[in-house]
Amino acid sequence: MDITRTELASLGEFGLINHINSRFSLQNPESIKGIGDDAAVIAQDATHYTLLSTDMLVEGVHFDLSYTPLPHLGFKAVAVNVSDIAAMYGIPKQIVIGLAVSNRFSVEAIDAFYEGVKAACDTFKVDLIGGDTTSSRSGLVISISVVGVTEHDKVVYRNTAKPTDIVCVTGDLGAAYLGLQVLEREKQVYMQDPSMQPELTGREYILQRQLRPSARMDIIHELREMSVVPTAMIDVSDGVASDILHICKQSNVGVALFEDKIPIDATAYDTALELKLDPITCALNGGEDYELLFTIQQSDYEKIKNHADISLIGYIQEAAKGNELVTKSGNRIALQAQGWVHF
Ligand code: ADP
Ligand code: MG
Repeated sequence: MDITRTELASLGEFGLINHINSRFSLQNPESIKGIGDDAAVIAQDATHYTLLSTDMLVEGVHFDLSYTPLPHLGFKAVAVNVSDIAAMYGIPKQIVIGLAVSNRFSVEAIDAFYEGVKAACDTFKVDLIGGDTTSSRSGLVISISVVGVTEHDKVVYRNTAKPTDIVCVTGDLGAAYLGLQVLEREKQVYMQDPSMQPELTGREYILQRQLRPSARMDIIHELREMSVVPTAMIDVSDGVASDILHICKQSNVGVALFEDKIPIDATAYDTALELKLDPITCALNGGEDYELLFTIQQSDYEKIKNHADISLIGYIQEAAKGNELVTKSGNRIALQAQGWVHF
């Protein structure tokens, strides 16, 4: 009898995915790309690929209903899926929604959740085409899968970055993490003294980044109009440090990121200092930004350089040079991923 027991914590989330992946190989020629990117890629016709991705949100792990409005949760659940299609340079088309819900919920609560789903469907022009509903004895579980489409020559993977490519990121980083820290702090205060009113004014931006993030389909449409096809791309779900390292590892390259180029919103910056956190660490490792992190060829630099919502934060280098963060004082230190620990 085999009595070996390996703790999930010993593998971590990415180790577990690699472990699962190592036991499977693709059998169908229509399966173009399996495990390992933001979405799977499936043959569709002579010119197009179908993209497929799934993401799950679990109450108590990914969201806390004591401070999460249900319409925001519905919007976010769709947006995080759409973000994975964006990260392939794809256009989202359809979603299906699996819900496990307890009798704690009323019809009105479900309606509120679907109000947010509908807002996201309208924003991203996706159709809700099905799903599954079941009861839950613990919390709310939301599982959404999204189908998208892209042209054969316009699918962008994580494993195709090349030395000298420029590293770009959209929007700003770390605000969603700091929004969460503020919500958690105010929850603790309220639980100790329910007469206390939460101090959230002035922090609307970072709270919205946590509670109702969007997906950067606007950027995908703009890049398509400018005929800029990134050389590699991922969406920032775990933190830019962790996510650039996915690109580097899979592309077999190294990277240099410049600390002073990392985009941080002013409210996020001030909130970090107030909470005695390092703003740069929050921006690099916070996660849940749902911005796009991509690499472009130097020849596309002119098209991108003046874009108000795209920051050029570093460059790809040979793997032998490693993964580096160039600090404000010019020191080169190892870029490390803290990311999220799930187990
Ligand atoms: P993302 O953050 O972009 O959603 P993940 O880190 O969740 O990506 O997943 C990375 C890759 O691993 C994806 O290709 C995903 O489909 C695959 N994956 C994740 N969990 C599993 C699982 N339990 N079984 C098979 N594949 C998985
Ligand atoms: Mg992703």
